[in-house]
Parts: sequence; structure tokens; C-alpha cells
Amino acid sequence: MGGVPQSVRDAAAALARERGLSAPYAVSLSRSSVEPFLQYADDRDLREQLFRAWTSRGAGSNDNNNTAIIEETLVLRAEKARLLGYENFAAYKLADSMAASPLAARDLLEKVWAPARDRALAERDALQDLIASEGENFTLAPWDWRYYAEKLRKERFDFDEAALKPYFQIENLIAAVFFTAEKLFGLTFKPRMDIPVYHPDVRVWEVRRDDSIIGFFYGDYFARSGKQGGAWMSSLRDQHRLSGDVLPIILNNLNFVKSDPCLLSFDDAETLFHEFGHALHGLLSHVKYPRLSGTNVARDFVELPSQIYEHWLEEPQVLQRFARHYQTGEPMPAALLERMLNARNAGQGFGTVELLASAIVDMDFHTNPPGDPQAMETQTLARIGMPAEIVPRHAAPHFAHIFGGDGYAAGYYAYLWSEVLDADGFQAFKEARDPFDPATARRLHDYIYASGGTRDFAQAYRDFRGRDPRIEPLLEGRGLVTA
Ligand SMILES: [Zn+2]
Repeated sequence: MGGVPQSVRDAAAALARERGLSAPYAVSLSRSSVEPFLQYADDRDLREQLFRAWTSRGAGSNDNNNTAIIEETLVLRAEKARLLGYENFAAYKLADSMAASPLAARDLLEKVWAPARDRALAERDALQDLIASEGENFTLAPWDWRYYAEKLRKERFDFDEAALKPYFQIENLIAAVFFTAEKLFGLTFKPRMDIPVYHPDVRVWEVRRDDSIIGFFYGDYFARSGKQGGAWMSSLRDQHRLSGDVLPIILNNLNFVKSDPCLLSFDDAETLFHEFGHALHGLLSHVKYPRLSGTNVARDFVELPSQIYEHWLEEPQVLQRFARHYQTGEPMPAALLERMLNARNAGQGFGTVELLASAIVDMDFHTNPPGDPQAMETQTLARIGMPAEIVPRHAAPHFAHIFGGDGYAAGYYAYLWSEVLDADGFQAFKEARDPFDPATARRLHDYIYASGGTRDFAQAYRDFRGRDPRIEPLLEGRGLVTA
């Protein structure tokens, strides 16, 4: 446990107790247990042992080896696509997505790959230099990356995210998401105490525009025992006009720890904005058929309304007003936020490469003729020039997103695709030199938030943006190019 901070040790001790082990500490092979250990543990041999176990989940010589069932899955998916008249499974899956074809999705992935890889190689060199400067002479291995990256981050951007917390009170942030919706879309929110709720913590607002009610918004913000963890938006009732004017009832669910004052981390604040972006997608929906209402859109489009909304959290007009110290009332210093954002961009070459590698492997699995999955994966990684010190975020035998069900099969690219859209989409406001530019906001409303699944998604984006999405704002946002 040398080098491992107390909070991580505590979690490891709790796990050992939970498993009834005689050892004082245990690290499991779940990401949240392994990653902090790889980040902090000084013992290089232990890091290697743990890394090898973690990255070979589902590939061991035992009953849990997934290789055969993955191969069978790929064969059956290819057959299904053929029966339905598609060239391959990816073509079938993407037919009604925004990308529309595997070619378009692959094109985007490979465009981002080159700069991400360059950046990762530069990060690798910096980590190797750090090893040398400590008087060591070994070559950086995959189990060293997170450890030295953490050291470098501390050295270059010594920044404690907790410094932001006193400025992020939950009540102010709820007001901030409403304020943003008012400035962009003319919405107002009025608490309704008379509407019944399923738990005393839950609050309801009526949502108005131009003096008419357009929907109802439920906020269920706090964790409690028996409540599912995580953050999401639910539509309790979809907007539609099939049988009269049916108003949407939309719920945001979060799991903040209830306390007084309730102060949020930057990540939490971002999540609040994210989920409210999904809520607006439901609330602003203006369609006839429930089947096409609100968030009933393609998987590579659905995160655009939520992710683009996160950008307003970083806007000075919002921060100045709502990010105020809970004791002094002082606005958050701009330099503080800037330091945090710079620290965040450190190491994005690595993060982008591991994510992209998985997305490209997924696309190859579902466009190439099926075969031995591990051989296919090796071939793809060789083709794209995967840096030897990084492994894909999910190796085939435990790539649950694409093999635990069909949901994300040939769809893992959607994470990056959505990020391209939200970065490029927000850029439209920057070009207008006004984060609330009325003309841009109106197009965002009409083509992205209000139209549900009624339009071709690529065309909807084009109508909003005036052109197809470009990758440059994403590269800039992830610090993969110098602006
Ligand atoms: Zn989301």
C-alpha cells in the first residue's frame, strides 16, 4: 500500500472485510478498485500483477473465457444483418443513426485517431523522461502509465478540485440551470407545492413560456437508502399531440449527498447541467407522435442536447452570478476555474486513445467477416498503430458494452461522435460572440431540442449549425491541438 492515499486504503480495507479475507486489504478487478491502485501504488511488481489480471478478464483458461461465445455472437450478428439485407451488422445497426453508415462513423474515428495518437506518444515520452529523472532505467510499461501520469499531473498542475466546492451550492446550481434555460429558450420555472410527490425530497416545477405551461419538471436530487444510484433523466409522460395537447412530465434523478450546506464538486455540477439538458430535450419536444417525442432519437444524437448544455456551466455570465462562495458570497475567481480546466486536459492523449481504440475495434468486429476475436483485435490494433504502452479501454473478452447485449454493438463510437457534436455545436455560440445569442439559440431549439425523432439527424444538425460537424473544437477541447 506504499504511496496509496488513505481514502483508497480505506476502500481496500472495506473490500477485504466484505469478502471475509484475512488479508488487511483487497483490490478487486472492477475499474473503480483497480484504477486508484495503478495510479498510486509504488510497488511496480504488484501493479503489473494487478494490471495483467484486470486486462485479461474473460480471457483466462477457465469456464469464464468468453472468446468462443464472442465469436459465435459475431457470426450470428453477421447472419442477422445478411437476412435483413445489409452488408454487415454495423450497416444494419447504423442505418437509422445520425452517422447513417459505418463509413461515416469510421471516418470520424480515424480523423481523431491521428492527433490523439501523436499526443499520447508525446505524453509517453514525458513519462519516460520522468522515469529517467528519478534515476530509473526501465522502459515505461502499461502498468506504469497511470502511476507516472499522476506524478506528472501533481508536478505540473498541483490543483485540488475540492477548492471549487465552496462555490458550488446545489440551490444556486439549480437556479443556474433554470437561468440558462430562460436566457436561451425563454423558459420560466415556478415551484408547485400542490402537486403530489413520491418522496418529501422531490420537488416539482411548472415550466412556462410566454404565459403558457409547456410541461412539468420533477427534481429528485438526493441519495437515500433504497434509491438506485447514478444520474439520469426519465420521461414520466412524453409530449405529443396525437390525442390533444399532452404536456411532458420530466424527471431528473441525481444522487447528491444531502447535507447543509450541500456543496457539489465540479463533476457533480456538470452532471446537473447534463441531466437538465436531457430534461429540456423532453420538455421542449414539439411533435405529434409519442414514438418520436423528446429523447426518442438515435443513440449517436441523444447525448447532444445534454452534453452541449454542460458548456454553459463554464460561462462567466453563469459563474459570476451563481458560483458564489457559500460563506462570503464572493464569486468564484476565474483563475481557479482555468487552473482546474488545464489540469483536466492533462493526459487526454491517453484517454482519447484508449477510448478510440475500443471504438475502432468495435467497428471492425461488425464490418469485417467474423473470425477469432482476439486475432481480429490484434490485427486492428496493429493497423492503427496502437502505442505499445496503452491497451484499449475494453478488450474483446470483457467488452460488455458490445457483447453484453446489442445496445452498443457497432455503437461505441457514439461517445466520441456526441462529443464532436457538442463541442462543434457550442462553438456556434462562440462564433456569435454571445453564449446566449438569440438566433443561434432559436435554431438550437427548433432543430435539436424540439424536433424529437421527426427529422433526419444529420440534416437537423446541418439546419442548426449551417454545415456538417467538424472535429476541430473537440480536439481543442481535449487539448489535442494547440488552439
Ligand atoms: Zn446523458
